[in-house]
Amino acid sequence: MSRRIDIVEVGPRDGLQNEKTLFTVGQKLEMIRRLETAGARRMEVVSFVNPKRVPQMDGAEEIMFALPRTPGRSRIGLVLNMRGWDRCVEARCDEANVVVCASDEFGIRNQGANVAEQVDALGAIVAARKADDPPISATVSVAFGCPFEGEVPEERVVSIVKAAAGFGVAEIALADTIGVADPWMVRRRVELAKAAAGGIPLRLHFHDTRNTGLANAFAGVEAGVDVLDASVGGLGGCPFAPNATGNIGTEDLVYMLERAGFETGYDLDQLIEIGNWASDLLGKRTASSLSRAGGFPKAKVAV
Ligand code: ZN
Repeated sequence: MSRRIDIVEVGPRDGLQNEKTLFTVGQKLEMIRRLETAGARRMEVVSFVNPKRVPQMDGAEEIMFALPRTPGRSRIGLVLNMRGWDRCVEARCDEANVVVCASDEFGIRNQGANVAEQVDALGAIVAARKADDPPISATVSVAFGCPFEGEVPEERVVSIVKAAAGFGVAEIALADTIGVADPWMVRRRVELAKAAAGGIPLRLHFHDTRNTGLANAFAGVEAGVDVLDASVGGLGGCPFAPNATGNIGTEDLVYMLERAGFETGYDLDQLIEIGNWASDLLGKRTASSLSRAGGFPKAKVAV
């Protein structure tokens, strides 16, 4: 049996978050349903941030209540603090993804808390979790570099991973929030995180800002990580890098992995269509390479 790589679709959250053109709740629901039809089993669909700060993430509760619980489908809510956790539980998300930034400056600007305060907040959220509440994964953001502090020491990333593992989260992710990582750095940090995570599965989240996204995904898979985030159409931007591209495109990642014999469970043609549809609505050219080139050529039968 070939190795399965689980791709967590983050288009409806990370993909849209920084876009000025606002999707209606109806458009977001259409996007989510189409992505699930195309094979997404885990998807980050909402973010429990203050909609005054991030208008695109308005309507989180409305979206969750419109999605009936479905076996085999996991709808994830992004959580930055205890208030977000309470909303995530109330909205009946299947999973919570709690973010801890690996840089004080980024954390203070993004979440109003330094690294130590965010680690404490994660601990408090895990302690508040009741048996029926959503499982919690922790994402270490700016784990490869920070737009304000520059280099992020690997010891700091390791210590956050250790703390998260100690709290007993279900999964730990390293996120290259601003797209600065290279594949060798990914391999090294994955090896260190693995050793610190004590058997808790790892997930990776890459942005393709500097064209290293797929190479980083390759390095992560080679280093033994089975779960990767991606965004359909390569949607997404970065508030700290104008004109930057978004997450690695789901269709680009699916193509690379399936050509190599991994299973992903996604339908490539449907992904390309959804990426084009969403990019059209945003008035943008689709960022993924597959949207331009299409999949592997089919053999032409000579007549
Ligand atoms: Zn991201």
